[in-house]
Amino acid sequence: MAAFDNPAFDEHERVVFCADEASGLRAIIAIHSTALGPGAGGCRLWNYESDDAALTDVLRLSQGMSYKNAMAGLNFGGGKAVIIKTRDFSGSDALYEKFGEYVESLNGDYVTAEDVGMTVDIMQTIGRRTKHVSVLPQQEGRAGGDPSPKTSWGIFKGIEAAVRFKLGKESVAGLTVAVQGVGNVGYYLCKYLSSAGAKVIVADLDESRVRRVCDEFAASAASLDEILFQAVDVVAPCALGAVLTEESIPRLRTAIIAGGANNQLALAADGRRLVEADILYAPDYVINAGGIINVSSEYYGDVGDDEVMDLINSIGPRLTQIFEAAAENGTPTNEIADKQAKDIIKAARAT
Ligand code: NAD
Repeated sequence: MAAFDNPAFDEHERVVFCADEASGLRAIIAIHSTALGPGAGGCRLWNYESDDAALTDVLRLSQGMSYKNAMAGLNFGGGKAVIIKTRDFSGSDALYEKFGEYVESLNGDYVTAEDVGMTVDIMQTIGRRTKHVSVLPQQEGRAGGDPSPKTSWGIFKGIEAAVRFKLGKESVAGLTVAVQGVGNVGYYLCKYLSSAGAKVIVADLDESRVRRVCDEFAASAASLDEILFQAVDVVAPCALGAVLTEESIPRLRTAIIAGGANNQLALAADGRRLVEADILYAPDYVINAGGIINVSSEYYGDVGDDEVMDLINSIGPRLTQIFEAAAENGTPTNEIADKQAKDIIKAARAT
């Protein structure tokens, strides 16, 4: 499928195909918008079914980053990269350095960071070839390092806001939350939820990760097929996207969907399906902005850790305002958030 014909293409400013025979690098960098600043967003390392699937993913994710950064009030546009894991993928330093060279060649229009499949070590290797990289190890008193705990904290505050709005409860104590995926984000979310007195049910493809949260946080395990369909107060998708579909939504038994995964709705219309099922949906790119807020402060070096936490804590009130606007006229929360984000980007383009 040609890039321009891809349904996820949204007048992206630039799409760069990166190939290097010597190291085996196959990657795509998509810059959706630089209206508010450099297109910032993580790099995902994934085993895609096809190159088209990788392209669709990077186009959707980079658009989502534009919206996420706009809604978080950051001086960042939207970008994203995917490195395609082929059968003979080496994961060598040479491959990551080559990717760094591609990022550098964009002269700061794209700022890369950690996403699924990446580590701080890999980001450091990429950083040997480009200064446009975030998530390097934390320096004392400054933001930086693995953004996942910050992402999870923002999700936790977002869950509290959703619980207050939908269930009229001031805390998650005594509530049950199903967490799909307990990697970087899911693990810390379980930690914050259980510390606040919530019961946690989890599932992950990696059984050792499930065991860890069961041991550390007295979580219980559900099967991969059933985790989304538990009878719970909140479902928190923290694995991959497109889990909320025409097929899955009628089977949900929760009052709230609020989790960290990007692009949770398979289609924008699934937001309407959630309204019809009386389920409150916290738009993914609003609730999971904690990590990019941390990345922004690291990249610009403008605020310290305390101020970063204040910015992340404001995710709760921002969601409440979206929930209220949505409830006023029955509009799905994802549509309210999309409209607000588009308006911010449009206003920046006009100046
Ligand atoms: P991760 O790779 O550390 O964890 C993802 C986990 O999901 C893994 O343990 C994996 O085994 C599991 N998983 C995959 N498919 C699954 C399935 N079908 N059922 C159950 N478990 C499954 O990634 P992460 O950094 O924790 O990110 C999780 C999600 O949050 C992603 O969608 C990512 O884009 C999004 N996100 C992450 C951050 C961040 O700061 N890391 C920020 C914003 C958004």
